[in-house]
Amino acid sequence: MTTEHTQQPQDQTGHTRRRFLAGAGGVAGALALWPAGGASAASGKRVAVLGGGVSGLSAAHELAERGYAVTVYEYYDALGGKARSMDVPGTGTDGRRPLPAEHGFRFFPGFYRNLPDTMRRIPFPGNASGVHDNLRSGTEALFARGSGHPDLHFPLRRATTSPRPGDLTPSWIRDQLLSVLDLGTRLPAHEAAYFADRVLVHLTSCDARREGQWEKVAWWDFIRAEEMSGEYQTLLGVGQTRNLVATRAEVASTRTVGRVIIEALLLWGLLGRGMDGDADVDRVLNAPTSEAWIDPWETHLRSLGVEFVPGTQVREIVYESGRVTGVRVSARDGGQERTVTAEHYVCAMPVEHARVTWGRALRAADPQLARCDALQTDWMTGVMFYLRTPTPVVHGHLNCLDSPWSVTGIGQAQFWDVRDFSRDYGDGRAHDCLSAIISEWDKPGILYGKTARECTKDEIVAELWAQLKDGLNDAGKTTLTDADRLGWFMDPAVTGLGGPDPQNREQLLVHPTGTLYNRPSARTKVPNFFLAGDYVRTDVDLATMEGANESARHAVNALLDADHSDAERCEIRELYRPPEMEPLKRVDEVRYRLGLPNTFDLG
Ligand SMILES: Cc1cc2nc3c(=O)[nH]c(=O)nc-3n(C[C@H](O)[C@H](O)[C@H](O)COP(=O)(O)OP(=O)(O)OC[C@H]3O[C@@H](n4cnc5c(N)ncnc54)[C@H](O)[C@@H]3O)c2cc1C
Repeated sequence: MTTEHTQQPQDQTGHTRRRFLAGAGGVAGALALWPAGGASAASGKRVAVLGGGVSGLSAAHELAERGYAVTVYEYYDALGGKARSMDVPGTGTDGRRPLPAEHGFRFFPGFYRNLPDTMRRIPFPGNASGVHDNLRSGTEALFARGSGHPDLHFPLRRATTSPRPGDLTPSWIRDQLLSVLDLGTRLPAHEAAYFADRVLVHLTSCDARREGQWEKVAWWDFIRAEEMSGEYQTLLGVGQTRNLVATRAEVASTRTVGRVIIEALLLWGLLGRGMDGDADVDRVLNAPTSEAWIDPWETHLRSLGVEFVPGTQVREIVYESGRVTGVRVSARDGGQERTVTAEHYVCAMPVEHARVTWGRALRAADPQLARCDALQTDWMTGVMFYLRTPTPVVHGHLNCLDSPWSVTGIGQAQFWDVRDFSRDYGDGRAHDCLSAIISEWDKPGILYGKTARECTKDEIVAELWAQLKDGLNDAGKTTLTDADRLGWFMDPAVTGLGGPDPQNREQLLVHPTGTLYNRPSARTKVPNFFLAGDYVRTDVDLATMEGANESARHAVNALLDADHSDAERCEIRELYRPPEMEPLKRVDEVRYRLGLPNTFDLG
């Protein structure tokens, strides 16, 4: 943990070490969880998976279940990529574990259905449905307002009774939206009505219009935020885009925000439609991510025969005579290069790292690889605050709507019901950790008037804390006190802060308009080369762990096709499509072809 002005102990890469688990694990019950017919394929062919994040591990999982001999090459000493948690070195005393840290907190919305399926197939002692049983529901979201304005507590429990058949009409949805906006916000009535109408436009737009028209329109313009009140801009513009997915509202794709945030997450989530079983809208793990999910996954994959080569940096994917013939790798950040080979290659690195390993010949073989150069990533990074007293804040996530750095957060110990924080972690003094994320690194803050990118690490922490307090300590409440703050930790993937050229090795794909057109498919024109990762084209279309998992399923299916395998294909679950909207979408399809606007689109 960093107490004020103390630097983190780091390994030679600048990263806190969390060692790979040793041994094959042999988790009881693993075989029983294999899909029927899967393991019997047993081709034994070798697959190199490049990258050990959620996409790489998901691909390894599906392939190993189908009898492939999988080796995962990973840059770090730990698996899980951006999703993993990490130890704060030197902080565990008297048999306690080191304090847990992470790149950013983990949210598993109820509409995810591919990732939860994988989680059910990762055995965990005492759990009938594997690590999936380690998910817990958050029941409320807190939209904290700054400068003394009252906060909005938004209940997130799914409706227990779905609308009756026939009730789910555009006017019913409009009425529901209006009553929520009327009860919970200070929006002028005409602005709320305009927003509700825009939701209906997107909801009833056919797929072709969503792809051909709304993908090109920024969310900000779609909801005409520029002409509306500051409240409208903050709540419905920035609050639904930059804060949640790090993309600026002024440029975010309407198709992505409309389909995923407004429809899948909020609308269908609250109505309990298309969810993972009886999941609530908001779910988190019951312990630090690596303990509750990634470490058991590694154990399970080892039991399926997957091998891991940590500390390995992919340098170049070698392409010759129409195929990938090997991968040039070295030790992390240096050392002698060597070539590793396999029959098939799944590239599961994030786009900004993957594309530098694709040489000219490989790019020439499939033009969609070069189009990935147009995909954009941005900074979105968390800070963990360790607190002396339990500080749940809200039973779910916190969105500091007025914070210039688009701050979100969660009080974690309340959900870690299989842990006692002070008994299990650190030196016993910390009783909670507040995990906060900065999604806006380019706007001046409230303490120093500097952007996060311009600040030193200490300044970032002080500024972030001030913005959290501005959101939480008002209207007669004091949720956070300086005396309660024991220390903090930020992922050392962010380096050089306060200097001329700060870097962040773990960036996130963002979704400005037109991103969809540059997203590659998992299947490439190279017969033994496949792409997995949150930037790959998927139905969920948002850079998330769900997207990473879905992309891996597509990659494995493409590999099975290329291999003429008779193994069962990975199931791919798409976002919920309400049957009530289909007739309206069919009408819209005709109108779109005729060059007419959507029926509800009054401009
Ligand atoms: C702050 C933050 C919070 C987030 N919160 C959520 C959330 O709550 N819910 C959600 O669903 N999603 C969330 N996301 C998004 C999610 O983390 C990612 O979309 C997802 O983890 C991506 O998985 P991936 O496998 O595609 O990539 P990564 O997680 O980046 O994994 C890729 C792996 O490849 C390795 N690698 C990179 N380069 C090389 C190389 N040259 N050689 C070898 N290995 C290499 C990396 O070390 C890494 O382990 C969040 C993202 C951020 C940044």
